[in-house]
Amino acid sequence: MEYLPWQTDPWQSLQQRRRAGRMPHALLLSGPAGIGKYAFAQALARSLLCQSPTEAGSACGHCKACELLAAGSHPDWMSIVPEEEGKAIKVDQVRSLAEFTALHAHYSGYKVIILQPAEHMNHAAANSLLKTLEEPSADTLLLLVSAQPQRLLATIRSRCQQLHFTAPAKGEALTWLRSQIANADVEHLLEMASGAPLTALKMADSGLDKVFDDSLKSIESLSSRQGDPLRVASDWQKQDGMQTLHWFSGWVTDMIRLASSPNPPHLDYGALRQRLQALAKRLELNALHRFLEQLNEARRLLATSQVNPQLLFEELLVRWSALPRRQA
Ligand SMILES: [Zn+2]
Repeated sequence: MEYLPWQTDPWQSLQQRRRAGRMPHALLLSGPAGIGKYAFAQALARSLLCQSPTEAGSACGHCKACELLAAGSHPDWMSIVPEEEGKAIKVDQVRSLAEFTALHAHYSGYKVIILQPAEHMNHAAANSLLKTLEEPSADTLLLLVSAQPQRLLATIRSRCQQLHFTAPAKGEALTWLRSQIANADVEHLLEMASGAPLTALKMADSGLDKVFDDSLKSIESLSSRQGDPLRVASDWQKQDGMQTLHWFSGWVTDMIRLASSPNPPHLDYGALRQRLQALAKRLELNALHRFLEQLNEARRLLATSQVNPQLLFEELLVRWSALPRRQA
C-alpha cells in the first residue's frame, strides 16, 4: 500500500527533509487506531530502502531492494511487533534492534526499523530502547508507531520527533473506502469504525460489520424486554468477547453523551447514532453510568482470562435487560 490520500502533507515534508539530508533518526507516529499510521511507516520504509525512488519519493516496486523488502528479507529492514498479538514487546526483541543499528547497511541506503505498537514495550524493553535512542547511528531511521503515546516513557517521546496523525475528514474517508470496496454501505461502515477508515475496511473484509450489527440488535431487543439474555450470552461467547465488550462500552459511552447533551459535537447523526439515541432516551442516565462501570470492570476481568466468559456475559446482559427506564 502506498501512503494514504490524507497523508500527503507529512509525506511531502519528510521527502523534503530527506532531499536536504535532514531526516530524523527517530520518528514517533501517533494518532488514533485505524487511520493508517502503520501504512505510512511502511510506505516510508519502502521509499528509503528503494534504489530508485520516484521524484515524489515513492518506491519503484521492482528494484532489488523493493523485491527483497516485499519478500520480507531485506537485510536493512527490521520489524518489531509483539510475539503474540496483544502481548508485550520484550527486551530481547529490543536488544536485537541495538545489534541491528550497530551494523553497516548492506545496501547503499538507510536501515529502517518499525516498532509497533510502541506502547506495548515492557519496562525493560523501553529502557533498552532508550539507550539505542541516546546513541543514534547514521542513516538509521527508527519508526515508533503508537495509538497511545502517553503510555510511553517521557524520555522516549522527547528523543523522537513526533508526527501526529488525525482521522481524515468524512468525505475523504468515504471516497477512499469506495475505492477499496464495491457494493458496501461505506457510510455505515465508517460510522461503525468511529471514523477510522482502515478499521472500517478491516471490518468489511472480515465480516465483523455483520457481527457488530447483530450484537447491537441484541442489546436493542433486550432493552425492549424482548429476547433472552442467556441466549445472547451464548452467541457472544462464540465471537471475540473482548471486541464485543469494546463495542458495547463504546455504545453506552455514546448513549451517555447523547443523553447528556442534545447535540454532542463529536457525534455525527447517522443511522447508528439514531439507534443509540433511541436507547439513550429510553434508559435512565444514572443507570447508564453505573452500567458503564460494570461493563468496564467486565472487560478488565475478561482480559485476565480468569473468568468464564459465558457467565460474565450472562450477568452483564441480565443487568442490561433490567436497566431502569426513564419516567415518561
Ligand atoms: Zn525500488
